[in-house]
Amino acid sequence: MADATSAASKHFLSDKVEHFTESVIREMTRQAMLHGAVNLAQGFPDFAAPAEIKQAAQQAVASDINQYAITWGAKNLRNAIARQMKLWQGIDVDSEKSVTVCCGSTEAMISTLLAVCNRGDEIVVFEPFYENYGPDAVLSGAKPKFVKLRPPQDEGGEWTFDEKELRSAFDRHTKAIILNTPNNPTGKVFTRAELELIRDLCLEFDVLAITDEIYEHILYDGTEHIAMASLDGMRERTVTINGMSKTYSVTGWRVGWAVAPEKITNAIRKVHDFLTVGAPAPLQEAGVAALNLPPEYYAKLADGYRIRRDHLIPALTAAGFHCFRPRGAYYVMTDISAFGFKDDVAFAEYLVQKIGVACVPGSSFYRDPHDGARQVRFAFCKKPETLDEAAKRLSKLAR
Ligand code: GLN
Repeated sequence: MADATSAASKHFLSDKVEHFTESVIREMTRQAMLHGAVNLAQGFPDFAAPAEIKQAAQQAVASDINQYAITWGAKNLRNAIARQMKLWQGIDVDSEKSVTVCCGSTEAMISTLLAVCNRGDEIVVFEPFYENYGPDAVLSGAKPKFVKLRPPQDEGGEWTFDEKELRSAFDRHTKAIILNTPNNPTGKVFTRAELELIRDLCLEFDVLAITDEIYEHILYDGTEHIAMASLDGMRERTVTINGMSKTYSVTGWRVGWAVAPEKITNAIRKVHDFLTVGAPAPLQEAGVAALNLPPEYYAKLADGYRIRRDHLIPALTAAGFHCFRPRGAYYVMTDISAFGFKDDVAFAEYLVQKIGVACVPGSSFYRDPHDGARQVRFAFCKKPETLDEAAKRLSKLAR
């Protein structure tokens, strides 16, 4: 019987699933709940979403927008997305032909990869990287090729990459580059010069750029978000992914989108339709209200996050972490060398179980766990009292 069971279980599983683990970020949230820890692991706000958009969602349910929207997104939401791309980035978008609304940017990313990749294609990814991109590549039959982002050498410095290393990652098998700016987990905001360099490689090697711009409005220190699709020559070879989660503090609503040239959009829409049919219809209506919030909303959002960043970093520094100051997004990568632990996983376990704070072990952002063994990531998208409680607990850490 035991033999039959093990033979059957081997037979039943896809080989693909062997090539990645469960999400460490989501696991750390479960660990935080189990141990009653302050959750600075998974990046979701613990404060209220804007009242206007909650009302719009309630109104949509009450007025019976409770059946499927058009599979690639409600027309009024697609129009609002197109308006925003024009407003913020000067990009003309045809909402009938170029927009696919998905269940979060997570689904937009995997639908895009499934729509464009063939077995053997290579995808260039900067590392440390948001952990979904690895499994996304595996599930779509592609092979990720990693290019290192190196931490700043001094206070106030930036994460950088080596131009030659990036160039050598491109070859005739390269289908796409995934670019996440503002970046999770590093907080790097790619500059125009860096984007132009990437653009030149995309043109030279005939490669697609798939950009995750979910943190586009969360910027500090005067940095500017530049959409890859706004660069000359990139409109026809860029898929821009974004969503409501981070900009409007509604990570549980699962409304995201991909904006792409028509042919690529058609392919994304097919995959998306058979994967999920569509994103929640009433929440797409609320999305229209969200995307129509006035410009002051975005300035306040970024300012609120700057205050939170400047709240958490001194507490982490005082507790013994070396912080790499983010220029965008709402995470801080830290170096944990001062604590003398075996590795990041042992440290994160100790922190969640004994100190009562959950973080994400650095290794989950690297292909080779060794590369992240001295780093952990904290999310600061939390109320001041949550950050205070975390600071109180972290001050008990011994160096
Ligand atoms: N982007 C978030 C993070 O990095 C999590 C998103 C998710 O769990 N789907 O923590």
